[in-house]
Amino acid sequence: MPEMSDANRRQKQAAPTSVTPLPDFPANLLEFHRMFPDEAACRRYLERMRWPSGFSCERCGASEEPLRLATRTGVLKCRSCLHQTRLTAGTIMQGTRTPLQVWFWATYLVATQTSGISALELQKQLGIARYETAFVMLHKLRAAMVRPDQDPIGAQWPVEMDIAFVGGQHKGGGSGKTNKAPVILAVEVRQKELRDPQTGKIVKRAMAGRLRVRMLPDKSAAQVNRFAQDCIAAGAHIATDDGGEFEGLPGCGYHHQPLAMLGNRARMDAWLPLVSTITANLKAWLDGTFHGVSKPHLQAYLNEFMFRFNRRFYRPMSFRTLLGLGIHRTGPSYQKLYERDWGHFKNPPTDGGGASTG
Ligand SMILES: [Zn+2]
Repeated sequence: MPEMSDANRRQKQAAPTSVTPLPDFPANLLEFHRMFPDEAACRRYLERMRWPSGFSCERCGASEEPLRLATRTGVLKCRSCLHQTRLTAGTIMQGTRTPLQVWFWATYLVATQTSGISALELQKQLGIARYETAFVMLHKLRAAMVRPDQDPIGAQWPVEMDIAFVGGQHKGGGSGKTNKAPVILAVEVRQKELRDPQTGKIVKRAMAGRLRVRMLPDKSAAQVNRFAQDCIAAGAHIATDDGGEFEGLPGCGYHHQPLAMLGNRARMDAWLPLVSTITANLKAWLDGTFHGVSKPHLQAYLNEFMFRFNRRFYRPMSFRTLLGLGIHRTGPSYQKLYERDWGHFKNPPTDGGGASTG
């Protein structure tokens, strides 16, 4: 039966392309050094990341080995229509004059360092001439840190949610408070079964699952509801304090469990232990690594915090993840970062919000 064999053949041909694995990622610094000794190695890696099952022309769709020009490295030329594709086109590295190797190092450092890296440190470590270059690289990498198609959390596990005031640049004076912005955090509470080493009994322990964080234009029920609907699965159980801003959650289809905190810190820590700890870590990270962060840039830093938190058990892999996420989008230019005309700063979409910005 020719039909069957055709289908079979198609399937056989399709199978390898649909499951083509992404290229390996370096497990440590030595491996990184071996994998990316020069620009050519970085180009090959980038090509395999962009086209895991082989190059295909964006104009005519031909899938065949492209022409490689010795004089224009980083450009792939289609054999059928002669269209030229830049390896970095459409990625956060688009239009860059910085060598790919520097980008790869920066990506590796940002993705794998436990508490990230500041632009100044990046500049020093990689010998980048201008501070602005390091600054823009970091922000482009941060722009790549959020998947556009983030799954909602809370479908399987209950969620702890809270709002904290964070950020604010230190200016020597004592009143940094007005500079802080409301940030909402939601984290899945997973249950892990562990054997108690002393009693030998199986005990259940709460463990933080995935985290979602967003800067809010104001601390209102409307903003909380919008965040929940964007990030949390319908019907999820959400534990919060008894703040009025959470009162709309039942109306949005959630099982809301508020508890009055009565100004008692210990009560708060017992009811919302995971989100309390994460909030403390976030504040310490912003203050310690960056000495505070101004409002226009805060969401970008929150994205970085979230990226690192959600991948804390997969650090080495997060190099490839970040490079992969970075490949399918461009990032802000230096100019745009200062014009505050970049998506980060418009997130979340506000209802004429931002008026409260101090
Ligand atoms: Zn073509």
